[in-house]
Amino acid sequence: MMPEKVKHVYFFGEGKTEGKAEMKNLLGGKGANIAEMTNLGIPVPPGFTITTEACVYYFKNNQKYPDGLLEEIEENLKKLEKVLEKTMGDPENPLLVSVRSGARTSMPGMMDTVLNLGLNDETAKGLSTLTKNERFVYDSYRRLLTMFGDVVLGIERIHFENLLEKKKEKQGVKLDYEITSENLKQLCEEYKDLIKEKKGFDFPQDPRKQLKMAVDAVFDSWNNQRAKTYRKINKIPDDWGTAVNVQTMVFGNLGDDCATGVAFTRDPANGENRFFGEYLPNAQGEDVVAGIRTPKTIEDLKVAMPKIYDELVEIYKKLEQRYKDMQDIEFTIQNEKLYMLQTRNGKRTAMSAVRIAVEMVDEGLIDIDTALTRVDPSTLDQLLLPMFDPKSKVEPVAKGLAGSSGAAVGKVVFTAERAVELKELGDKVVLVRNETSPEDVGGMHVSEGILTARGGLTSHAAVVGRGMGKCCVVGCGDITVNEEEGFFTVKGQVVKEGDYISLNGNTGEVILSKVDLIEPEVNTYLEKILNWADEKRKLGVRANADTPSDAANAIKFGAAGIGLCRTEHMFFGEDRIPIVRKMIMASDKDTRNEYIMKLLPFQREDFTGIFKAMKGYPVTIRLLDPPLHEFLPNRMELQEDLIRLEYENGSKEKIKEISNLIEIVKTLEEFNPMLGHRGCRLGITFPEIYNMQVQAILEAAVDVIKSGGKVSPEIMIPLTGTFGEMKITHDNAKAVADDVLAKAGMDIPYMIGTMIEIPRAAIIADQIATEAEFFSFGTNDLTQMTFGYSRDDAAKFLPTYVGQRILKDDPFVSIDTEGVGELVKIGIERGRKTRPELKVGICGEHGGEPSSVKFCHNVGMNYVSCSPFRLPIARLAAAQAAIEEKQGKSRHFDE
Ligand code: PEP
Ligand code: MG
Repeated sequence: MMPEKVKHVYFFGEGKTEGKAEMKNLLGGKGANIAEMTNLGIPVPPGFTITTEACVYYFKNNQKYPDGLLEEIEENLKKLEKVLEKTMGDPENPLLVSVRSGARTSMPGMMDTVLNLGLNDETAKGLSTLTKNERFVYDSYRRLLTMFGDVVLGIERIHFENLLEKKKEKQGVKLDYEITSENLKQLCEEYKDLIKEKKGFDFPQDPRKQLKMAVDAVFDSWNNQRAKTYRKINKIPDDWGTAVNVQTMVFGNLGDDCATGVAFTRDPANGENRFFGEYLPNAQGEDVVAGIRTPKTIEDLKVAMPKIYDELVEIYKKLEQRYKDMQDIEFTIQNEKLYMLQTRNGKRTAMSAVRIAVEMVDEGLIDIDTALTRVDPSTLDQLLLPMFDPKSKVEPVAKGLAGSSGAAVGKVVFTAERAVELKELGDKVVLVRNETSPEDVGGMHVSEGILTARGGLTSHAAVVGRGMGKCCVVGCGDITVNEEEGFFTVKGQVVKEGDYISLNGNTGEVILSKVDLIEPEVNTYLEKILNWADEKRKLGVRANADTPSDAANAIKFGAAGIGLCRTEHMFFGEDRIPIVRKMIMASDKDTRNEYIMKLLPFQREDFTGIFKAMKGYPVTIRLLDPPLHEFLPNRMELQEDLIRLEYENGSKEKIKEISNLIEIVKTLEEFNPMLGHRGCRLGITFPEIYNMQVQAILEAAVDVIKSGGKVSPEIMIPLTGTFGEMKITHDNAKAVADDVLAKAGMDIPYMIGTMIEIPRAAIIADQIATEAEFFSFGTNDLTQMTFGYSRDDAAKFLPTYVGQRILKDDPFVSIDTEGVGELVKIGIERGRKTRPELKVGICGEHGGEPSSVKFCHNVGMNYVSCSPFRLPIARLAAAQAAIEEKQGKSRHFDE
């Protein structure tokens, strides 16, 4: 049997269209949509599309066309010539075409285009007679020579531009459209000479040769550096290939009854339901983009060409009805006839996406499930935080990692103390550090934003920044910070305390000036879409919150509980840290206990505040996790103090105190603190600390209940890795908790559970679950320990790893489903084997990242927990996961 012949070329236009909207994978987005427009009776210049499959074949076979492709191109070209009654290369009536790329998903400006193919010395002459517009023809010819030279022949554009500039200079004009027809003609000759000189052969005069070479070049542009980078950023597979659209040229620059423009069927900035666009009379498409002339608004078109305007309105409404989404359209008017060149789903801001989705449901155009899948969850935190005024001019001097969304403007400070001091004087400050530590939390709190030279996306600064909803740029290797002397340098510039900087936490950009900010508006559309999301989602949503004010934010943004309260943050603060340090430095157990118990009232007060704010929702409180040295001053700083004191003949007593402190700091120092004496290891060697915390939790619960409130405490043991650790910490905690309740004569339900953040814990989850009543996956540490990548140092190599596709994504941002995810699955499965009702959540940073939230849904977690400002993201992503499950599919790029 003969194999079925594969079709590689699809014709469109003049009632003979072979494609349709659903064929995006084969015809590319542009090709499928052009075909669809002709199916809808919308005027489109006819042409044909070469499939993405042909492109894929081309790359797999050493840049060779599949069998029959050349013949199919020829057949379709003949068809086109017949339909238009024009012939390629015929000087009497030449057919001119454009050759454009068009992948499944739009990759704006990334691949190449050649316009005006079919022009040569002969057709240019003929067309001049035909159009009686020699200037237009030679302008088109020189554009073809430039594009062909650049895109097809690889001659740098600058060579063409230099000749153009010289010509303008000679003629004494500034703008391209002022060049005379005669000079354009000469320019074409010079361009042809340039091509000959650079390539050693002539610009091909044969239009069919031009076409073949242009198609090759557009295929090749799939693999240019720009396109590759864009695909990497947007996670578009490399093996999709691009389609090629060969389409009859129409001209918007033939005279005053011509124009070209772009429009959106709704406002892409704020989503308002109004026709929105611009056009340029007597111009070509690229002039609109190039911004040489100021375009007119679409309302002006209504006055200038009312009939065309009405036709355009009718078309855009038809397109919205067909695609049920906001469209971005391109059109050209040639001698008072309207042609549509393109329609595609329009790019939009987060604000616009939400409003359009909600209003389209209200208009009956789409259903709620569709609306919920239309909005990209990861953009939602932008709607709750200040951002740069889009009108202001921004010139970044450096770029770090976008640690936490929002924007910040303020005076630079280098220490947390200075941040507090200047804030008290009424200044707005931005804290700049090499990296932050828990000690800096107070300073971070009063700062508008935080910039660090080191650290990755789960570094302390980023995690705390996100928790506070505070703009944060981390790992900005371009800056060198001198905290002691109070300045940083960047690209040869020195920035001192008090100088203004601005940060963009959405992009990681750093700007050495004051950029205007705009505050987010309370958005009823966002509220509506999130309420719909809540109705659809199955995952619970909680917040990571450490203070009553975080807890209040958590409630405001829709949390039904706290999934992680990191108690170490409560050990800082002016009134507490001296006690904590004395506790650490105590030489005997009794003295240590004495100081530990001094912390009890503070802890009780903290927990009472949080319980009250959470109004009976579950609150998971994690017992102390970080190694103790984090609460002590920095050894380098202490040593500097010591040297100064000795030099200045300072008091003997003070010198002794500091020397002692240095000794203690030394004994607590560790080579790998992240793998050292922290988490439950600390709770086992110093059980008094955990006992005090549990006592404070239960006493707070008793107080709140007595004052008429509700509580649901969950005590969480960090960093468990063995059954023994779980058993001992569980039993201790239970004994203390039951003792408090017995003394109060109350029976308050509480739970004791653990974080699963050590791979071993996931593997022996069946044993752990005999004691633990709930699991919360700490995927920050679990990722760190599974990969063996330090979460604070990985920023040095992760971008390279992602760049070289060693990793698909940064695993600290998006959960690594193959490795870390597998451990999570094992942990849940084994845990629930022992305890079927085991409550399972996640509290690592992944709990606020859409694809990870979907993973959590798919593996059957009960809830996700994330920073308060990421709650809207989690709510929407959870709803999308439920919808995708219902539809039995996962989302693809081209849907
Ligand atoms: C984690 O490890 O995922 C976690 C939530 O704990 P922390 O970030 O405080 O180590
Ligand atoms: Mg952890």
